Amino acid sequence: MIRTHTCGELRPEHVGQTVTLAGWVDSYRDHGRGLFVDLRDRYGKTQIVFAPDAGEELLQQARTLRAEFVVAVTGSVALRPAGTANLKLPTGEVELRARSLRLLNPSLTPPLQPGAKEVPGEDLRLKYRYLDLRRPEMQRTLMLRHRIIKTMRDYFDEHGFIEIETPMLGRSTPEGARDYLVPSRIHPGKFYALPQSPQLYKQILMVAGYDRYVQVARCFRDEDLRADRQPEFTQLDLEMSFVEADDVMNMIDGLMARLSQAILNRPLQLPLPRMTYDEAMERFGHDAPDLRFGLELVDITDLAAASELRVFREAAAAGQRVRGLNAPQAAASYSRKGLDELAETARSFGAKGLVWFRVEAGPTLASPSAKNLGPGIAARLIERMQAQPGDLLLFVADTFEVTCKALHGLRKLLGETLKLYEPGHLHCSWVVEFPMFARDEETGGWTAMHHPFTSPRPQDLELLASDPGRCRAQAYDLVINGYEAGGGTIRIHDSSIQQQVFGLLGIDAQQARQRFGFLLDALQYGAPPHGGIALGIDRVVMLFAGLDNIRDCIAFPKTQRATDLMTEAPGEVEPRQLQELHVRVVT
Ligand code: ASP
Repeated sequence: MIRTHTCGELRPEHVGQTVTLAGWVDSYRDHGRGLFVDLRDRYGKTQIVFAPDAGEELLQQARTLRAEFVVAVTGSVALRPAGTANLKLPTGEVELRARSLRLLNPSLTPPLQPGAKEVPGEDLRLKYRYLDLRRPEMQRTLMLRHRIIKTMRDYFDEHGFIEIETPMLGRSTPEGARDYLVPSRIHPGKFYALPQSPQLYKQILMVAGYDRYVQVARCFRDEDLRADRQPEFTQLDLEMSFVEADDVMNMIDGLMARLSQAILNRPLQLPLPRMTYDEAMERFGHDAPDLRFGLELVDITDLAAASELRVFREAAAAGQRVRGLNAPQAAASYSRKGLDELAETARSFGAKGLVWFRVEAGPTLASPSAKNLGPGIAARLIERMQAQPGDLLLFVADTFEVTCKALHGLRKLLGETLKLYEPGHLHCSWVVEFPMFARDEETGGWTAMHHPFTSPRPQDLELLASDPGRCRAQAYDLVINGYEAGGGTIRIHDSSIQQQVFGLLGIDAQQARQRFGFLLDALQYGAPPHGGIALGIDRVVMLFAGLDNIRDCIAFPKTQRATDLMTEAPGEVEPRQLQELHVRVVT
């Protein structure tokens, strides 16, 4: 080994020992007591001193060092002189007094300095990812990622799960996104699809009797990217036989408690809170509510109907909803301009406007709309909203969907601006019993809210035929801090129900046979009741690391335009390759 210790290891107990460190030159300073170099590796940083008494030759050699040169330094460990210890650094009480230096490899002048405080622009970081990955923040996150995945694997191993790999080259699995396709050379005109998830394989594994399957699985979805999405991402994917929804959730509860303890050193109270989809929409306007803070939505449609305020009265008369929230003690935080901005936010979610009231001593309501409310309404509003002087009340009058979107947007914004939660705090909960189907806006037909293999609740089976829109699924989403961190369902294990659901989704018998014949067949060979879930590992890492950009949690991520700036993928290929694949490019 070239080194005897890492750059994060030396402490006062090593004083007097001769050691060799190897690493990258993080920074260097030349001053009175000699030349000082901070040497960095992924374990930390150690101060190296090239003192004048070590000899002119060594000093000369040390003076040629530049940022990011890779070197090995041998010397003796000493306490730093009194008053110069750096207690912020774990190695900060000691230094290495150099006796010899080996240049292992020089470096070109790096376009970004891994040791610098300021974070470089993201394009530069992605292009020179190997330099960016040397930054201690990135190294911490990737080590955390490793720890999280290791904890997950250990947990499931202890619970009798086995990890089974499923193919990358397969048939399309409908998870609602566009497929990445791979042309077949051997079968002209045919294509494999990269998995959007291992969904069908894991169900087949249940039919095959592997009753507890888990996999750290790569998934591919060709969809428009957002800050928290990547075209290829990693799921913790699992499936269990002979279970009901509660059993799967309990298993994940245990995992979250284990992670919280192992990663954050914090106990997590179990069971995690559970609420239905309908309740989540009613109380928070969203199916992945951020429960780190309150600001619950309150319905005032009945008061609106009785009031004289036109926007309120008309919405109520049209069968719409009037809902709002109370931001406690926020009245003083919003000037007229601030309130205009909140109204702008509401409009960006489709609301026609925002009705606001400041609660003043009395308590009474103050705002341009207050005097138009009509007799007695203000007092009832104050009571309904449990308002105190100093509070700010915000209302949206519209369809249920628009009130959900706009108030959810406002709630999120207020939570952030008013700092209603502690940074670093994770709140985990479940949202359950999602609708089976949602309306496809374009075709007017039904689409699967989760995926087409999701089982309805047993008590809703009849609704499949009579009123699919009211049919609720045995589905559950894990929500952390307002993000959907995972989702799963109990599956259909009866091929006739599966056919019926395909039918509702507009997949006729012939198409179903062609695309999923293997599944429909398998369901007829003794398929056990089964269900499972998948967690987005990138997202879970992001939340545990307290970050807000998923790309910072992945070693080699893609940009928002699905490109890799380092390798320059996607790239062009040789015409011969296209020919072999029977593919012609039409642009
Ligand atoms: N395959 C699903 C998904 O990727 C998860 C599941 O239902 O287990 O969202």
